[in-house]
Amino acid sequence: MNIHEYQAKQLLKKFKVGVPEGRLIEEGSDVEGRAEKAAKELQAERGNKVWVVKAQVHAGGRGKAGGVKVCKTLDEVKSAAKQIVGMKLVTPQTGAEGKIVHKVWIEEGSDIARELYFAVLTDRATSKVMMMASTEGGMEIEEVAEKHPEKIAKVIVDPTLGYHPYHGRKLCKALGLDNALWREGVEFFGGVYKTFMESDAAMCEINPMIVTKQGKIMALDAKFGFDDNAMFRQKDILAMRDIMEENTQDVEASKFELAYIALDGTIGCLVNGAGLAMATLDIIKIHGGTPANFLDVGGGANKEKVSNAFKIILKDPKVKAILVNIFGGIMKCDVIAEGVIAAARELNLKVPLVVRLEGTNVEKGKELLANSGLKITPADGLTDAAKKAVAAAKG
Ligand code: GDP
Ligand code: MN
Repeated sequence: MNIHEYQAKQLLKKFKVGVPEGRLIEEGSDVEGRAEKAAKELQAERGNKVWVVKAQVHAGGRGKAGGVKVCKTLDEVKSAAKQIVGMKLVTPQTGAEGKIVHKVWIEEGSDIARELYFAVLTDRATSKVMMMASTEGGMEIEEVAEKHPEKIAKVIVDPTLGYHPYHGRKLCKALGLDNALWREGVEFFGGVYKTFMESDAAMCEINPMIVTKQGKIMALDAKFGFDDNAMFRQKDILAMRDIMEENTQDVEASKFELAYIALDGTIGCLVNGAGLAMATLDIIKIHGGTPANFLDVGGGANKEKVSNAFKIILKDPKVKAILVNIFGGIMKCDVIAEGVIAAARELNLKVPLVVRLEGTNVEKGKELLANSGLKITPADGLTDAAKKAVAAAKG
Protein backbone atom coordinates (compact mmCIF):
# COMPACT_ATOMS: atom_id res chain seq x y z
CA MET A 1 0.00 0.00 0.00
CA ASN A 2 1.17 3.52 -0.83
CA ILE A 3 0.17 6.94 0.45
CA HIS A 4 0.33 10.50 -0.86
CA GLU A 5 3.17 12.90 -0.16
CA TYR A 6 1.02 15.08 2.11
CA GLN A 7 0.03 12.04 4.17
CA ALA A 8 3.65 10.91 4.35
CA LYS A 9 4.62 14.33 5.66
CA GLN A 10 1.87 14.28 8.28
CA LEU A 11 3.08 10.84 9.37
CA LEU A 12 6.71 11.97 9.58
CA LYS A 13 5.65 15.04 11.55
CA LYS A 14 4.05 12.76 14.17
CA PHE A 15 7.49 11.24 14.68
CA LYS A 16 9.08 14.71 14.94
CA VAL A 17 10.75 14.64 11.54
CA GLY A 18 11.03 18.15 10.05
CA VAL A 19 8.66 18.82 7.15
CA PRO A 20 7.30 22.01 5.57
CA GLU A 21 3.76 23.00 6.59
CA GLY A 22 1.01 22.93 4.03
CA ARG A 23 -2.69 22.71 3.18
CA LEU A 24 -4.57 20.23 1.02
CA ILE A 25 -6.97 21.32 -1.72
CA GLU A 26 -9.20 18.68 -3.25
CA GLU A 27 -10.93 18.86 -6.62
CA GLY A 28 -14.38 20.43 -6.72
CA SER A 29 -15.81 23.90 -7.06
CA ASP A 30 -13.72 27.05 -6.76
CA VAL A 31 -10.28 25.46 -6.52
CA GLU A 32 -8.73 28.89 -7.08
CA GLY A 33 -10.60 30.52 -4.22
CA ARG A 34 -9.83 27.72 -1.80
CA ALA A 35 -6.19 27.69 -2.88
CA GLU A 36 -5.88 31.43 -2.30
CA LYS A 37 -7.47 31.18 1.14
CA ALA A 38 -5.19 28.29 2.11
CA ALA A 39 -2.11 30.12 0.85
CA LYS A 40 -3.04 33.24 2.82
CA GLU A 41 -3.65 31.26 6.01
CA LEU A 42 -0.37 29.45 5.59
CA GLN A 43 1.48 32.71 5.13
CA ALA A 44 -0.15 34.27 8.20
CA GLU A 45 0.95 31.26 10.21
CA ARG A 46 4.40 30.67 8.76
CA GLY A 47 5.51 34.01 7.30
CA ASN A 48 6.67 32.41 4.06
CA LYS A 49 7.17 34.51 0.91
CA VAL A 50 7.01 31.65 -1.53
CA TRP A 51 4.56 28.74 -1.91
CA VAL A 52 4.95 25.45 -3.68
CA VAL A 53 1.90 23.84 -5.28
CA LYS A 54 2.34 20.09 -5.64
CA ALA A 55 0.21 17.50 -7.43
CA GLN A 56 -0.75 14.61 -5.15
CA VAL A 57 -0.61 11.34 -7.05
CA HIS A 58 0.96 8.02 -6.18
CA ALA A 59 3.93 8.54 -8.47
CA GLY A 60 7.23 10.35 -8.41
CA GLY A 61 8.86 12.47 -11.09
CA ARG A 62 6.14 15.10 -10.76
CA GLY A 63 8.57 18.02 -10.86
CA LYS A 64 9.78 17.38 -14.40
CA ALA A 65 6.23 16.71 -15.62
CA GLY A 66 4.83 20.06 -14.45
CA GLY A 67 3.24 18.77 -11.24
CA VAL A 68 5.34 20.92 -8.88
CA LYS A 69 5.17 24.71 -9.17
CA VAL A 70 7.07 27.25 -7.10
CA CYS A 71 4.86 30.38 -6.80
CA LYS A 72 5.89 33.88 -5.75
CA THR A 73 2.44 35.52 -5.63
CA LEU A 74 -1.09 34.54 -4.63
CA ASP A 75 -2.13 34.84 -8.27
CA GLU A 76 0.51 32.31 -9.21
CA VAL A 77 -0.75 29.96 -6.49
CA LYS A 78 -4.31 30.29 -7.82
CA SER A 79 -3.39 29.58 -11.40
CA ALA A 80 -1.02 26.74 -10.48
CA ALA A 81 -3.71 25.03 -8.39
CA LYS A 82 -6.29 25.47 -11.14
CA GLN A 83 -3.91 24.15 -13.74
CA ILE A 84 -2.73 21.12 -11.77
CA VAL A 85 -6.08 19.91 -10.38
CA GLY A 86 -7.63 17.79 -13.11
CA MET A 87 -4.50 17.62 -15.22
CA LYS A 88 -3.18 14.32 -16.51
CA LEU A 89 0.30 13.86 -15.19
CA VAL A 90 2.59 11.62 -17.21
CA THR A 91 5.85 10.73 -15.49
CA PRO A 92 8.21 7.78 -15.87
CA GLN A 93 6.39 6.24 -12.89
CA THR A 94 2.79 6.63 -14.09
CA GLY A 95 3.20 4.72 -17.34
CA ALA A 96 2.14 6.19 -20.67
CA GLU A 97 -1.53 6.45 -19.68
CA GLY A 98 -0.67 8.98 -16.95
CA LYS A 99 -2.60 9.85 -13.81
CA ILE A 100 -5.35 12.39 -13.26
CA VAL A 101 -4.61 14.74 -10.36
CA HIS A 102 -7.45 14.98 -7.82
CA LYS A 103 -5.66 16.91 -5.05
CA VAL A 104 -2.92 19.49 -4.63
CA TRP A 105 -0.80 20.25 -1.61
CA ILE A 106 0.08 23.90 -1.07
CA GLU A 107 3.21 24.20 0.94
CA GLU A 108 5.39 26.92 2.42
CA GLY A 109 8.40 27.33 0.14
CA SER A 110 11.83 26.37 1.44
CA ASP A 111 15.19 28.07 0.86
CA ILE A 112 17.19 25.13 -0.37
CA ALA A 113 20.94 25.09 0.25
CA ARG A 114 21.47 21.39 -0.50
CA GLU A 115 19.29 18.62 -1.92
CA LEU A 116 20.19 15.19 -0.55
CA TYR A 117 18.73 11.70 -0.75
CA PHE A 118 17.72 9.44 2.10
CA ALA A 119 15.84 6.15 2.19
CA VAL A 120 15.06 3.38 4.62
CA LEU A 121 14.15 -0.06 3.32
CA THR A 122 14.00 -3.73 4.15
CA ASP A 123 17.15 -5.34 2.85
CA ARG A 124 16.53 -8.88 1.68
CA ALA A 125 20.22 -9.77 1.46
CA THR A 126 20.91 -9.11 5.16
CA SER A 127 17.31 -9.47 6.45
CA LYS A 128 17.89 -6.15 8.18
CA VAL A 129 16.97 -2.54 7.70
CA MET A 130 19.03 -0.58 5.24
CA MET A 131 19.51 3.17 5.40
CA MET A 132 20.70 4.75 2.19
CA ALA A 133 21.95 8.28 1.70
CA SER A 134 23.41 10.21 -1.18
CA THR A 135 24.60 13.70 -1.92
CA GLU A 136 22.76 13.43 -5.26
CA GLY A 137 19.31 14.44 -4.04
CA GLY A 138 16.53 15.38 -6.42
CA MET A 139 17.80 12.92 -9.01
CA GLU A 140 16.37 9.49 -9.56
CA ILE A 141 18.30 7.12 -7.35
CA GLU A 142 18.29 4.35 -9.96
CA GLU A 143 20.32 6.66 -12.19
CA VAL A 144 22.78 7.49 -9.40
CA ALA A 145 23.10 3.80 -8.55
CA GLU A 146 23.96 3.02 -12.16
CA LYS A 147 26.37 5.86 -12.92
CA HIS A 148 27.86 6.68 -9.52
CA PRO A 149 27.35 3.78 -7.14
CA GLU A 150 30.14 5.20 -4.95
CA LYS A 151 27.90 8.18 -4.21
CA ILE A 152 25.41 6.05 -2.29
CA ALA A 153 26.24 5.35 1.36
CA LYS A 154 24.58 2.36 2.99
CA VAL A 155 24.22 1.69 6.70
CA ILE A 156 22.65 -1.52 7.95
CA VAL A 157 20.61 -1.43 11.15
CA ASP A 158 19.79 -4.62 12.98
CA PRO A 159 16.12 -4.20 13.90
CA THR A 160 16.54 -6.17 17.11
CA LEU A 161 19.15 -3.68 18.31
CA GLY A 162 17.56 -0.61 16.79
CA TYR A 163 18.90 2.68 15.52
CA HIS A 164 21.76 4.32 17.40
CA PRO A 165 23.42 7.71 16.93
CA TYR A 166 26.54 6.15 15.40
CA HIS A 167 24.43 4.95 12.47
CA GLY A 168 23.33 8.53 11.94
CA ARG A 169 26.83 9.94 12.29
CA LYS A 170 28.05 7.62 9.55
CA LEU A 171 25.36 9.04 7.27
CA CYS A 172 26.15 12.65 8.29
CA LYS A 173 29.78 12.04 7.37
CA ALA A 174 28.90 10.44 4.05
CA LEU A 175 26.70 13.43 3.18
CA GLY A 176 29.41 15.88 4.21
CA LEU A 177 27.08 17.71 6.60
CA ASP A 178 28.58 20.61 8.57
CA ASN A 179 29.47 19.53 12.09
CA ALA A 180 26.90 21.97 13.44
CA LEU A 181 24.21 19.93 11.68
CA TRP A 182 25.19 16.50 12.93
CA ARG A 183 22.98 16.51 16.00
CA GLU A 184 19.96 17.44 13.89
CA GLY A 185 20.99 14.95 11.21
CA VAL A 186 21.22 12.10 13.71
CA GLU A 187 17.74 12.99 15.00
CA PHE A 188 16.34 13.26 11.49
CA PHE A 189 17.55 9.81 10.44
CA GLY A 190 16.38 8.36 13.75
CA GLY A 191 12.95 9.91 13.31
CA VAL A 192 12.54 8.45 9.85
CA TYR A 193 13.75 5.05 11.10
CA LYS A 194 11.17 5.16 13.90
CA THR A 195 8.39 6.13 11.49
CA PHE A 196 9.42 3.29 9.19
CA MET A 197 9.47 0.66 11.96
CA GLU A 198 6.36 1.70 13.85
CA SER A 199 4.19 1.99 10.78
CA ASP A 200 5.28 -1.34 9.24
CA ALA A 201 6.73 0.30 6.17
CA ALA A 202 8.69 -1.67 3.63
CA MET A 203 10.18 1.42 2.05
CA CYS A 204 10.50 5.10 2.83
CA GLU A 205 12.21 7.45 0.41
CA ILE A 206 12.97 11.10 1.07
CA ASN A 207 14.04 12.73 -2.14
CA PRO A 208 15.02 15.40 -1.65
CA MET A 209 16.00 15.66 1.96
CA ILE A 210 17.13 19.25 2.20
CA VAL A 211 19.40 21.51 4.20
CA THR A 212 17.88 24.99 4.17
CA LYS A 213 19.84 28.23 4.01
CA GLN A 214 18.69 28.77 7.60
CA GLY A 215 20.48 25.54 8.54
CA LYS A 216 17.50 23.23 9.03
CA ILE A 217 17.13 19.67 7.80
CA MET A 218 13.75 18.74 6.31
CA ALA A 219 11.96 16.17 4.20
CA LEU A 220 10.87 18.10 1.11
CA ASP A 221 9.32 15.05 -0.51
CA ALA A 222 8.40 11.70 1.01
CA LYS A 223 7.20 8.40 -0.33
CA PHE A 224 6.17 5.32 1.64
CA GLY A 225 5.36 1.74 0.73
CA PHE A 226 3.78 -0.36 3.46
CA ASP A 227 3.64 -4.07 4.07
CA ASP A 228 0.07 -5.03 3.13
CA ASN A 229 0.20 -8.06 5.41
CA ALA A 230 0.73 -5.82 8.44
CA MET A 231 -2.10 -3.38 7.72
CA PHE A 232 -4.52 -5.25 10.01
CA ARG A 233 -2.60 -3.74 12.92
CA GLN A 234 -2.11 -0.31 11.32
CA LYS A 235 -5.57 1.21 11.33
CA ASP A 236 -4.25 4.78 11.02
CA ILE A 237 -2.15 3.91 8.00
CA LEU A 238 -4.95 1.91 6.39
CA ALA A 239 -7.24 4.92 6.79
CA MET A 240 -4.90 6.83 4.46
CA ARG A 241 -5.52 4.42 1.60
CA ASP A 242 -6.68 6.28 -1.50
CA ILE A 243 -8.55 3.81 -3.67
CA MET A 244 -8.76 6.32 -6.51
CA GLU A 245 -5.00 6.01 -6.95
CA GLU A 246 -5.04 2.25 -7.22
CA ASN A 247 -5.54 0.11 -10.28
CA THR A 248 -9.32 -0.62 -10.33
CA GLN A 249 -8.72 -4.34 -10.90
CA ASP A 250 -6.40 -4.44 -7.88
CA VAL A 251 -9.12 -2.89 -5.76
CA GLU A 252 -11.75 -5.39 -6.96
CA ALA A 253 -9.34 -8.26 -6.38
CA SER A 254 -8.55 -7.20 -2.82
CA LYS A 255 -12.32 -7.05 -2.12
CA PHE A 256 -12.63 -10.73 -3.07
CA GLU A 257 -9.33 -11.70 -1.46
CA LEU A 258 -7.77 -12.64 -4.75
CA ALA A 259 -4.06 -12.04 -5.27
CA TYR A 260 -4.07 -10.09 -8.53
CA ILE A 261 -1.31 -8.13 -10.20
CA ALA A 262 -1.90 -6.46 -13.56
CA LEU A 263 0.76 -6.99 -16.21
CA ASP A 264 0.87 -5.62 -19.73
CA GLY A 265 0.42 -8.71 -21.92
CA THR A 266 -2.57 -10.28 -23.70
CA ILE A 267 -3.19 -13.62 -21.97
CA GLY A 268 -5.35 -13.49 -18.86
CA CYS A 269 -4.35 -16.11 -16.30
CA LEU A 270 -6.54 -17.74 -13.68
CA VAL A 271 -4.48 -20.04 -11.52
CA ASN A 272 -4.57 -21.50 -8.04
CA GLY A 273 -1.44 -21.19 -5.94
CA ALA A 274 1.26 -18.55 -6.28
CA GLY A 275 3.89 -21.05 -7.41
CA LEU A 276 1.76 -22.46 -10.19
CA ALA A 277 0.78 -18.91 -11.18
CA MET A 278 4.46 -17.95 -11.52
CA ALA A 279 5.15 -21.10 -13.53
CA THR A 280 2.19 -20.29 -15.78
CA LEU A 281 3.58 -16.83 -16.53
CA ASP A 282 6.97 -18.35 -17.32
CA ILE A 283 5.63 -20.98 -19.66
CA ILE A 284 3.49 -18.45 -21.54
CA LYS A 285 6.63 -16.39 -22.08
CA ILE A 286 8.64 -19.43 -23.16
CA HIS A 287 6.06 -20.13 -25.87
CA GLY A 288 6.15 -16.58 -27.17
CA GLY A 289 3.13 -15.07 -25.40
CA THR A 290 2.74 -12.33 -22.80
CA PRO A 291 0.67 -12.67 -19.61
CA ALA A 292 -1.89 -9.96 -18.86
CA ASN A 293 -1.86 -10.62 -15.15
CA PHE A 294 -0.83 -12.73 -12.24
CA LEU A 295 -3.88 -14.10 -10.47
CA ASP A 296 -3.91 -16.58 -7.65
CA VAL A 297 -7.45 -17.58 -6.67
CA GLY A 298 -6.07 -19.38 -3.63
CA GLY A 299 -6.50 -22.88 -2.33
CA GLY A 300 -10.07 -22.72 -1.09
CA ALA A 301 -11.68 -20.86 -3.95
CA ASN A 302 -15.37 -21.49 -4.65
CA LYS A 303 -17.60 -20.89 -7.65
CA GLU A 304 -18.19 -17.27 -6.72
CA LYS A 305 -14.49 -16.53 -6.37
CA VAL A 306 -13.74 -18.05 -9.77
CA SER A 307 -16.52 -16.01 -11.31
CA ASN A 308 -15.21 -12.80 -9.73
CA ALA A 309 -11.72 -13.63 -10.90
CA PHE A 310 -13.03 -13.91 -14.48
CA LYS A 311 -14.76 -10.57 -14.21
CA ILE A 312 -11.55 -8.90 -13.08
CA ILE A 313 -9.54 -10.45 -15.90
CA LEU A 314 -12.15 -9.41 -18.47
CA LYS A 315 -12.10 -5.78 -17.35
CA ASP A 316 -8.67 -5.54 -18.95
CA PRO A 317 -9.26 -4.66 -22.63
CA LYS A 318 -5.84 -6.01 -23.59
CA VAL A 319 -6.89 -9.59 -22.81
CA LYS A 320 -7.16 -11.64 -26.03
CA ALA A 321 -7.32 -15.11 -24.47
CA ILE A 322 -7.71 -16.64 -21.03
CA LEU A 323 -5.77 -19.54 -19.65
CA VAL A 324 -7.25 -21.33 -16.67
CA ASN A 325 -4.65 -23.52 -15.03
CA ILE A 326 -5.87 -25.30 -11.94
CA PHE A 327 -4.47 -28.07 -9.87
CA GLY A 328 -7.30 -29.48 -7.80
CA GLY A 329 -5.88 -30.41 -4.47
CA ILE A 330 -7.99 -28.82 -1.78
CA MET A 331 -10.07 -27.35 -4.58
CA LYS A 332 -11.91 -29.93 -6.64
CA CYS A 333 -11.75 -29.78 -10.44
CA ASP A 334 -15.51 -30.19 -10.87
CA VAL A 335 -16.14 -27.17 -8.63
CA ILE A 336 -13.71 -25.13 -10.69
CA ALA A 337 -15.35 -26.33 -13.89
CA GLU A 338 -18.75 -25.23 -12.56
CA GLY A 339 -17.31 -21.83 -11.70
CA VAL A 340 -15.76 -21.47 -15.14
CA ILE A 341 -19.00 -22.47 -16.89
CA ALA A 342 -21.17 -20.20 -14.75
CA ALA A 343 -18.87 -17.24 -15.28
CA ALA A 344 -18.54 -17.86 -19.03
CA ARG A 345 -22.33 -17.94 -19.35
CA GLU A 346 -23.02 -14.98 -17.11
CA LEU A 347 -20.37 -12.83 -18.74
CA ASN A 348 -21.19 -14.01 -22.24
CA LEU A 349 -17.54 -14.77 -22.74
CA LYS A 350 -16.18 -13.80 -26.17
CA VAL A 351 -12.45 -14.31 -25.76
CA PRO A 352 -11.04 -17.80 -26.34
CA LEU A 353 -10.76 -19.86 -23.20
CA VAL A 354 -8.14 -22.56 -22.66
CA VAL A 355 -8.58 -24.74 -19.60
CA ARG A 356 -6.13 -27.12 -18.07
CA LEU A 357 -7.37 -29.09 -15.08
CA GLU A 358 -5.47 -31.64 -13.07
CA GLY A 359 -6.01 -33.32 -9.73
CA THR A 360 -9.03 -34.30 -7.65
CA ASN A 361 -12.17 -35.08 -9.68
CA VAL A 362 -10.42 -34.12 -12.91
CA GLU A 363 -12.53 -36.46 -15.04
CA LYS A 364 -15.74 -35.04 -13.67
CA GLY A 365 -14.44 -31.53 -14.30
CA LYS A 366 -13.47 -32.25 -17.90
CA GLU A 367 -16.82 -33.85 -18.54
CA LEU A 368 -18.66 -30.80 -17.27
CA LEU A 369 -16.62 -28.53 -19.54
CA ALA A 370 -17.09 -30.77 -22.58
CA ASN A 371 -20.86 -30.94 -22.06
CA SER A 372 -21.31 -27.25 -21.32
CA GLY A 373 -21.87 -26.35 -24.96
CA LEU A 374 -19.39 -23.53 -24.55
CA LYS A 375 -16.37 -23.03 -26.76
CA ILE A 376 -13.70 -24.13 -24.34
CA THR A 377 -10.38 -25.51 -25.51
CA PRO A 378 -9.25 -28.27 -23.17
CA ALA A 379 -5.54 -28.77 -22.65
CA ASP A 380 -3.44 -31.59 -21.28
CA GLY A 381 -0.43 -30.48 -19.35
CA LEU A 382 1.23 -27.12 -18.92
CA THR A 383 3.04 -26.96 -22.25
CA ASP A 384 -0.04 -27.87 -24.28
CA ALA A 385 -2.06 -25.27 -22.36
CA ALA A 386 0.52 -22.52 -22.92
CA LYS A 387 0.84 -23.28 -26.65
CA LYS A 388 -2.93 -23.23 -27.12
CA ALA A 389 -3.34 -20.00 -25.19
CA VAL A 390 -0.56 -18.29 -27.11
CA ALA A 391 -2.07 -19.39 -30.42
CA ALA A 392 -5.52 -18.23 -29.31
CA ALA A 393 -4.24 -14.81 -28.24
CA LYS A 394 -2.59 -14.33 -31.62
CA GLY A 395 -5.93 -15.03 -33.25
P1 GDP B 1 8.95 14.77 -7.49
O1 GDP B 1 9.45 15.39 -8.76
O2 GDP B 1 7.65 14.07 -7.69
O3 GDP B 1 9.96 13.90 -6.85
O4 GDP B 1 8.62 15.99 -6.50
P2 GDP B 1 9.51 16.72 -5.38
O5 GDP B 1 8.67 17.00 -4.24
O6 GDP B 1 10.76 15.95 -5.09
O7 GDP B 1 9.89 18.10 -6.05
C1 GDP B 1 10.71 18.19 -7.18
C2 GDP B 1 11.69 19.34 -7.07
O8 GDP B 1 11.00 20.57 -6.89
C3 GDP B 1 12.60 19.25 -5.85
O9 GDP B 1 13.73 18.43 -6.07
C4 GDP B 1 13.00 20.71 -5.66
O10 GDP B 1 14.10 21.05 -6.50
C5 GDP B 1 11.78 21.48 -6.15
N1 GDP B 1 11.04 21.99 -4.98
C6 GDP B 1 10.06 21.35 -4.28
N2 GDP B 1 9.68 22.08 -3.22
C7 GDP B 1 10.43 23.23 -3.24
C8 GDP B 1 10.51 24.40 -2.39
O11 GDP B 1 9.85 24.52 -1.37
N3 GDP B 1 11.39 25.36 -2.77
C9 GDP B 1 12.16 25.25 -3.88
N4 GDP B 1 12.99 26.24 -4.18
N5 GDP B 1 12.12 24.18 -4.67
C10 GDP B 1 11.28 23.18 -4.37
MN1 MN C 1 10.96 13.74 -5.12
